[in-house]
Amino acid sequence: MQKLSIIVPCYNEEETVKLFYDEAGPVLASVGDIEWEFIFVDDGSKDGTILALRRLAEEDSHVRYLSFSRNFGKEAAMYAGLQAARGDYAAIMDVDLQDPPSLLPELLRAVREEGYDCAAVRRVTRKGEPRVRSFFARMFYKIVNRISRTEIVDGARDYRLMTRQMVDSILEITEVNRFSKGIFSWVGYNTKWVETENVPRAAGKTKWSFFKLLIYALDGVIAFSTAPLAISSILGLLFCVISFLAIIFVIVRQLVWGGSAFGWPSLVCIILFLTGIQLFCIGILGQYISKIHMEVKDRPIYIVRERGGSDD
Ligand code: UDP
Ligand code: MG
Repeated sequence: MQKLSIIVPCYNEEETVKLFYDEAGPVLASVGDIEWEFIFVDDGSKDGTILALRRLAEEDSHVRYLSFSRNFGKEAAMYAGLQAARGDYAAIMDVDLQDPPSLLPELLRAVREEGYDCAAVRRVTRKGEPRVRSFFARMFYKIVNRISRTEIVDGARDYRLMTRQMVDSILEITEVNRFSKGIFSWVGYNTKWVETENVPRAAGKTKWSFFKLLIYALDGVIAFSTAPLAISSILGLLFCVISFLAIIFVIVRQLVWGGSAFGWPSLVCIILFLTGIQLFCIGILGQYISKIHMEVKDRPIYIVRERGGSDD
């Protein structure tokens, strides 16, 4: 029988682990002709998440878990889960039930019967989300899709079900700065998009502050586009041309009218403006160099402290 691996990143989710398991388990059982395993990845939680996972693994042989030595982030957790998956198919789901398990049969059908390599979920509403956050999220997708050749779908969740072949392709990408929304799209393959409404969290709190999301968005831009570098080069070129014209203007004025002692305030403005632009461009450069720095170190993406569940 074919097997489906369900990968579930958890960070401080003691309240939701059991809720998730109780809802997803019966859905999988109802499919009938498929084996399944849950791979919970405890991303260095500081609450009782690991206790909940140990208990589930003892009770049910479908449950396996990994526990990280510290919080490595959801991206690392998804990667670890995909590495541990043994199924012919793998799905990634949030534990807070914002990724409805009831969609699993539909996703599975798309991949098994309709010939897709991947079925992914995208939410068409952002109901219940703070306005400011929705606004910036929309802006992010607009900008990143304009400047990157890899398409990043607005509203795409990380909830998706993939074939083994696609999982292997994703695992080949071993970069440390992982931005999965881009990676899923970069590897290609046929994806079916299943649309859904935004579902509020079952319990617990979101782990993403506005600031954390902002940094994540910037990482996404830098990981999938070199446009900011091009923009800084173009700015540099533009100011070269302007300064060249200005020099000609100043020389001609000096030769024709002579004596130009005034103009000190405008000079200060120009100097401030140009140093600002320079620092901005050096900053962009620095962002890319810092990413190179992290990649070159080649540290592991995650460190496992404990594994459990069937024959682990
Ligand atoms: N998560 C994680 N590591 C983190 C942050 C979050 O594994 O550092 C998990 C979290 O437990 C949940 C999923 O990623 O299963 C999505 O997180 P959350 O629901 O907090 O994000 P939101 O849905 O609000 O964007
Ligand atoms: Mg959530």
